[in-house]
Amino acid sequence: ALPGNPPFPVFFNPEKPIHTICITGTDHDLLVTTNQHVLRTRIEDIKNGILILKKITRVKQIFLMVFGSGAPISNDIGAEIRPVKAGYPAALPQIMVRDLLGRAVPPGKTCEDLGVSFFTAEAVASIGRAFASNAIPVSKIITVIGKDGKRNMVSARIGTPVQDIFSALGIVVQDKDRLIVGGPMTGLAVFSESYPVLADTDSVMVQDHAGITPVSDYPCINCGECVRICPAKIPVNMLVRYLETGRYEEAADLYDLYCCIECGLCSYVCVSRMPVFQYIRLGKYELSRRQAAEASHD
Ligand code: SF4
Ligand code: SF4
Repeated sequence: ALPGNPPFPVFFNPEKPIHTICITGTDHDLLVTTNQHVLRTRIEDIKNGILILKKITRVKQIFLMVFGSGAPISNDIGAEIRPVKAGYPAALPQIMVRDLLGRAVPPGKTCEDLGVSFFTAEAVASIGRAFASNAIPVSKIITVIGKDGKRNMVSARIGTPVQDIFSALGIVVQDKDRLIVGGPMTGLAVFSESYPVLADTDSVMVQDHAGITPVSDYPCINCGECVRICPAKIPVNMLVRYLETGRYEEAADLYDLYCCIECGLCSYVCVSRMPVFQYIRLGKYELSRRQAAEASHD
């Protein structure tokens, strides 16, 4: 796939026509600045990419989402510039769709179900450059976040093991340090420095083992912090009770599992250090597995 992994397959589904493309010059997780960097440095590629996108998808409504006012971007870019509020989780797709269309993505549905497809700024820049140069770009821009929180913007060939990037930057990963692909709120821990840069790898980070707050098996104390912070207004204190005991259907039917937009804030604030977000992801995964198994038996 091209760097940024443009989601072309969504355009081949006649049951879910796409009427709007959102290009994200924003990055949805904290500390990650990959697409903001691409927006600053590759505006001509993005402009070309938007032209190509219009031709091949025939979508007329294209928004370019930028943090702040987006003032430095010229209006002839070919897309309507829409500001996104700074502050997490304003750049998550579901929040942007709500702000753009004035309605929330229904539980269990995706932005594509509402006819909105998301392309990162890097994906669009890759399309633009591929057509302009008649060559497939193979380098991915990545935000590399070291143990001290220092960020480096790196361009690496897709397939490069992350250990090669760390070596080049002088980042030493020690036993029990945590390696995360993605950002601090929504990233996934991986267990090998051989993990390769993929077309959609926007960020890798290393957390020093001394600074990692371990999750615990303490019970929920009903403090309500997670409920207060949840942008989807989910009764997380109740949801987590069902998830931790594996009662996933009830979690979905009674306590809005599918309304979760996966921001990770509930885990971040949980005073009992419960792995709430991990329970949520596991619950959704288990339900999708069961549904797939049932469908294959029909
Ligand atoms: S991850 Fe937690 S805080 Fe975020 S939407 Fe889901 S339940 Fe709410
Ligand atoms: S923040 Fe943690 S302890 Fe407090 S109500 Fe939510 S799950 Fe329970």
